[in-house]
Amino acid sequence: MAISDKGHLVRATGYLLPTMKESPADAQVISHQLMLRAGMIRQTSAGIYAWLPLGLRALRLVEHVVREEQDRFGIHEMLMPTIQSADLWMESGRYEDYGQELLRINDRHGHDMLYGPTNEEVVTAIARQAVHSYKQLPLRVYHIQWKFRDEIRPRFGVMRGREFLMKDAYSLDIDEASARRSYNRFLACYIATFRRLGLTAIPVRAETGPIGGDLSHEFAVLAETGESTLQVEQDLVRTIQTCEIPTDDDDIAEWVEDILSHQANSDDMCQPEADLPKDKTFIHRRGIEVGHIFYFGDKYSAPMKAEVQGPDGKPRPVHMGSYGIGVSRLVAALIEAGHDARGIVWPMASAPFHVAVLNIAGEKGVALADQISTTLTDAGADVYYDDRRERAGLKFADADLIGFPWQVIISARHLTADQIELKWRADDSRQVLPRAQAIAKVVASLPGEGG
Ligand code: ATP
Ligand code: MG
Repeated sequence: MAISDKGHLVRATGYLLPTMKESPADAQVISHQLMLRAGMIRQTSAGIYAWLPLGLRALRLVEHVVREEQDRFGIHEMLMPTIQSADLWMESGRYEDYGQELLRINDRHGHDMLYGPTNEEVVTAIARQAVHSYKQLPLRVYHIQWKFRDEIRPRFGVMRGREFLMKDAYSLDIDEASARRSYNRFLACYIATFRRLGLTAIPVRAETGPIGGDLSHEFAVLAETGESTLQVEQDLVRTIQTCEIPTDDDDIAEWVEDILSHQANSDDMCQPEADLPKDKTFIHRRGIEVGHIFYFGDKYSAPMKAEVQGPDGKPRPVHMGSYGIGVSRLVAALIEAGHDARGIVWPMASAPFHVAVLNIAGEKGVALADQISTTLTDAGADVYYDDRRERAGLKFADADLIGFPWQVIISARHLTADQIELKWRADDSRQVLPRAQAIAKVVASLPGEGG
């Protein structure tokens, strides 16, 4: 996590990391099983989870990447509360429309409040007070805040919880053409964000649902266990994985047009095999929805009277869009995309710790293990130092389960030669190297600035 130059060092002793050998019976999907087994989360009520220290590090890292990419695309961070006044939702008409997913609360004065499932009303109310002229537009803001939706069937752990962490952003523009530029900017930002996390997320044309509006895309991570069915042009997958992503408005417009010229369909929108163009290859996979973008024009600004003066001096409702990323769901999506029979396999870019230092040489290994842990941390690695007085087998099983990209193994048989065994979790490859060389190898693999 590139939050400071120095890495973060944690000792297993005194760290709340309750790993489990067996999968709890009620966990159906692999990410849920592994998050419980690796001691990342614990359920406190249906669809509501406590994030234990390791899980929280993974969540914060995703949040950090999402935040940096929003900032890089010129979107400004703010923070809105979790509790909202029902009055605003009555103005927009959604207090009735949203239905049972909305958690309604009464305060001691009997005022109707709610736990926010999304923030269009709050943003619109702020805009109508703060924005009066087209000269103040466009505006693009985001926040990263907990949401509550009383899902009828919370399941798959944090994949579909009731309380979950979302990045939601909002754009305000003077007209449709300008709103389209905002929309395209977010589309590009999302592709950059998911790629940086090591995921391939495909923009799929979507229904607009209760948020309403005209134009909408979902971003679906290709996986084996997603909730939706996908049918995607092979060329699109390749483009999303490898293309250069522009950050300038003019370039973005052309680039988005090219991206959206490819076919990507989900669920009801999937076409019969016979209707697909014969000259193109399609892949069929499950998809996990990790993001969703909408352009909805004046759906909220018209009823809530968020108007600005145009160049002609006449007031008109602002054109708005909203843009979500499921930050806590992304942690699960990363695990769905990266695991094997022994546990999680984190990519370097999104690992909660880059390296585990495993001392299996008992007392004799302590000095070297202490020293290597400190050296790696000083060089910028996030280090989990398994200093427990436990059997080697247990330490190996835990390290594989938790999925640290590197394992640095200090064993009695290499101590005299001042050598260390390095294991790369992804392919289980091992090498025995002189201490300095092993350290250099781990340090060289650390994600760079902004990565
Ligand atoms: P879904 O169809 O999965 O219910 P949605 O269309 O209701 O999603 P949005 O309102 O667009 O979702 O929310 C933005 C993002 O928040 C989604 O793309 C998803 O990643 C995440 N999200 C939505 N609901 C949940 C939930 N119950 N638990 C975890 N993340 C969620
Ligand atoms: Mg939903």
